[in-house]
Amino acid sequence: MVAGKKQFTLKNLPPLRKASSYPTGSPATYDYIVVGGGTAGCPLAATLSLKYKVLLLERGGSPYGNRNVSYMENFHIGLMNMAPDSSSQAFISTDGVINARARVLGGGTCINAGFYSRASSSFIQEVGWDEDLVNKSFPWVEEKIVQWPKIAPWQAALRDGLLQAGVAPFNGYTYDHVSGTKVGGTIFDETGYRHTAADLLAAGDPNNLRVLLHASVHKIMFDSRQGRLKPRAIGVQFTDENGRHHQAFLNNNKNSEIIVSAGAIGTPQLLLLSGIGPKDHLKSHNIPVVLHNKYVGKGMADNPMNSIFIPTRSPPRQSLIETVGITEEGVFIEASSGFGQSSESVHCHHGIMSAEIGQLSTIPPKQRTLEAAQKYAHNKLNLPKEVFHGGFILEKIDGPLSTGHLVLTDTDVRNNPAVTFNYFSHPQDLDRCVFGIKTIERILKTNRFSELAAEGTGFSMERVLNMSVQANVNLIPKHTNDTESLEQFCKDTVITIWHYHGGCHVGKVVDQHYRVLGISGLRVVDGSIFSRSPGTNPQATVMMMGRYMGVKILRERLGRAAGV
Ligand code: FAD
Repeated sequence: MVAGKKQFTLKNLPPLRKASSYPTGSPATYDYIVVGGGTAGCPLAATLSLKYKVLLLERGGSPYGNRNVSYMENFHIGLMNMAPDSSSQAFISTDGVINARARVLGGGTCINAGFYSRASSSFIQEVGWDEDLVNKSFPWVEEKIVQWPKIAPWQAALRDGLLQAGVAPFNGYTYDHVSGTKVGGTIFDETGYRHTAADLLAAGDPNNLRVLLHASVHKIMFDSRQGRLKPRAIGVQFTDENGRHHQAFLNNNKNSEIIVSAGAIGTPQLLLLSGIGPKDHLKSHNIPVVLHNKYVGKGMADNPMNSIFIPTRSPPRQSLIETVGITEEGVFIEASSGFGQSSESVHCHHGIMSAEIGQLSTIPPKQRTLEAAQKYAHNKLNLPKEVFHGGFILEKIDGPLSTGHLVLTDTDVRNNPAVTFNYFSHPQDLDRCVFGIKTIERILKTNRFSELAAEGTGFSMERVLNMSVQANVNLIPKHTNDTESLEQFCKDTVITIWHYHGGCHVGKVVDQHYRVLGISGLRVVDGSIFSRSPGTNPQATVMMMGRYMGVKILRERLGRAAGV
């Protein structure tokens, strides 16, 4: 397959300056202040800058020159790096599942597994998007940063195994969401180099777009003077990399807006810190209430993922996600294999999802901290590579009915709020997990997979379930019947595929146009508005949404003169 990428150059990138360069008391004002230079924030800011002055504030650093971001082989290392300047900020949900959120310009696209697959047309209809504009916005992203993968052997095996197991038809290479088996796009090029949402900033107007890195926004400021129908967002307060405080303001145009694109954890957190949320919760943290809204932080969901570890005869080449099986039952089957082959990765550690630190589950639950995981990984440095021969087949539940919530633990924006997803609290989610594991069992029984088995004699399901329990790294206590009851296996080995979403639902926190209800001059554009994660994997649709909303806002203000 030829790469989907057309001629696109990064020469036009705006300067990426540190937040400390922002002059105190700067007289500059903006038409748009975008908080969060992530998957949605970058294409949104780039598009708005074509006509308006935009300030983009990102709490993390630059992805350029960061090896953990740029090279696929360092995917696991990037996730395990818990330094304060890491592009990934780990968190553990109250469910006991280790998770990660981006902290870098480009957001999730800088730390993710790169798989690119569009939302289904039914999703587009459900959310009420203009299909014509959607169909223009997806290619806008794709021609800049998306490629077809040179399919890795493990991914080819999954493709064949899925088809032999009846997850048919084969839909070839496609970005579209269609039942059956397909190969999707990727943001890694043929050398394993990652292209990210930050690259999309080059499509903006560098003269109109000011980007600040290490700018942590801790508060949105409002004009709540009496006589105003609604409080109006007028500016933001942020700290730079040296901990100094700054303020930035919108201009006086009535259409100017602050747009929060801080992701499904960062956006509800920032609304709460700014005084928008359940009043009792705000009061308990001494946050002055700007607007009582009991729904901020509610309806958080994370698609549960369970993975089966499969030992192989020879070490499979590293691959993240390239193939997916889309079942009618709403279960998606994907795979990953091997570990990075660079000197940093193989001899270092292999990340929170790897068998290597699976032994963490043998540590008593209370001692299973992120530090313990790191220590364990460190102690494993001398293990021979052969121990890690194998790959994972994963299953993800689409649209989980189990939901949870997010609350502040303190008022420091750098700290994670407490997030609860309540995995498998709805019985239908559990049924679908069991269906997914049974589908994987069928795949393992196909000729294609029997040939890959370490002994060349196929896989015993009990053995791989047992290894998968051993390899599992969540902090949920294990049970002796994990390999006998698939329900118990699902509950005890649930991990994340990092597709968490929600917290600012449409109709509850934002309106149809993603304007925050009860406030003027404030919108949300990111994964927090979703009640369901789009596509098999969300990044395609989140980037598309950034572009889509940018064009929509320009058209609303300028009509045909928008020229986009
Ligand atoms: P983000 O991209 O996270 O953007 C939020 C941005 O806001 C971040 O850059 C953050 O630093 C910044 N921010 C937050 N708070 C503040 C603040 N107070 N001030 C200033 N800035 C702030 N999806 C796929 O489609 N395919 C995959 O293969 C895939 N694999 C994944 C693997 C991992 C490890 C992860 C974490 C995610 C993966 N995803 C994948 C999911 C996908 O990447 C995310 O759903 C998507 O990136 C979310 O986009 P967002 O715009 O909502 O948030």
